Amino acid sequence: MKLTKVGKIVVALLILIVGIITLIIYYQNKSDLSIKKIESNEFFDIKIDYEKTGIALLDEKVSEFVKNKRKQFIDIVDKAGRVETNKYNLIVNVKNNKYNDVLSIHALSFAYTGGAHYTREDESYVYDLKKEKYINFSDILVSDGFTNIEPIVLESLYDYAKEKDIILDEEWVKRGLSQSDSNYKYFYFSNQGLNITFPPYQVASWADGEITITIPYEKLGGILKSEYMDASLVTDITYPKPGKRDLSELEGKKLIAFTFDDGPNTKTTSRLLDGIKEFDARVTFFVLGSRVASNTEVLKRAYVEGNQIGSHTYNHLNLLLLDDANVLSEINLANDEIEKVIGIRPSLLRPPYGNINDHIKTLANMHIINWNIDTEDWKLKDRNLIKDKILESAHDGAIVLLHDIYTESVEGAIMAMKKLKQEGYAFVTIDEMINLKGVKLDYEKTYYNF
Ligand code: ZN
Repeated sequence: MKLTKVGKIVVALLILIVGIITLIIYYQNKSDLSIKKIESNEFFDIKIDYEKTGIALLDEKVSEFVKNKRKQFIDIVDKAGRVETNKYNLIVNVKNNKYNDVLSIHALSFAYTGGAHYTREDESYVYDLKKEKYINFSDILVSDGFTNIEPIVLESLYDYAKEKDIILDEEWVKRGLSQSDSNYKYFYFSNQGLNITFPPYQVASWADGEITITIPYEKLGGILKSEYMDASLVTDITYPKPGKRDLSELEGKKLIAFTFDDGPNTKTTSRLLDGIKEFDARVTFFVLGSRVASNTEVLKRAYVEGNQIGSHTYNHLNLLLLDDANVLSEINLANDEIEKVIGIRPSLLRPPYGNINDHIKTLANMHIINWNIDTEDWKLKDRNLIKDKILESAHDGAIVLLHDIYTESVEGAIMAMKKLKQEGYAFVTIDEMINLKGVKLDYEKTYYNF
């Protein structure tokens, strides 16, 4: 079809008209949502200024808040007697934050009715548009999420304070952050993460103002319910923090490094971790890469509780029989698996069967840790015999070889620790051992004891 000149002009005009109408409708709707009211006389000024959400249920709540604040203010002004010299003032505004399916409304009123400063009142309504219901802070967290988020909030708060030169009062912070929905009423999501606002007087003084902290989604893994997690923005996962202890209390003690190979194993490794707590022991696990993915939680636990994680390669093959490429893949695959869970690559390698040579050491580029007390636990399979074997060879600086995949080995180790503790021994990881002994590990050596 070919348009005449007149036809073209008509089409252009039509497009223009449709455009103008669209703009008019857009601005009309926008102005419908925008509430601006100013009341002023010789006694007071009232300024109300906010945007409606367009959701009737919520807008009603907000307008009720506004109405109440206005009424309270007028009542106070009337009661005080209208005095021209002391002009009173009310400001009401409302912040809306919509992100994905969560709409957070923070309504605020500032009233000046005499005194040192404004009286501030806050209210919040957080609404899940998908679930069509109001939610509290605890609703966005997994079951023990509150316990896990509290230290993160605390850290963010102290970072904020440091940046703004605010001195926080420990008591205020403790009370203001304690685990209750009422302390976390003002929260909203953004593409930066979860934001929490603390009005003045909650964690800091009036002068320090309102404090809003932002916790990136990266830090909220395992804390935020998955439906509130903006996974598209999570660039890396959070890793467990290694448990560290003060080594000064171990100085001068006889030291033994218990090492456990061939795990992790959820059942037996957990039993070991439970048992060694009593003796304040830390041990070293030389784990098999192939076993990590199916036992991640216990590995994390071991790490968080201050134990050291080393590699025992991926498949437990005799490295002396492999070509270079396979040696490297045995080592690298295991390190990848471990890193996925604890966030760092291990520095220690225990070669399967203790088999190593100089060439493989160069390939591995890890510190090689063997042992000088072989319990032969896998053969003995008897907790008392295993315990005796440890006790008869125990000495300062020893490295004990065990396997945390056998209940008898785990129980034997715990029994030995009980006795050795009475004899003044402390149980340390390899890293703790070298720190306390002042040893710097060499890549070319194989270590059997310290
Ligand atoms: Zn092994």
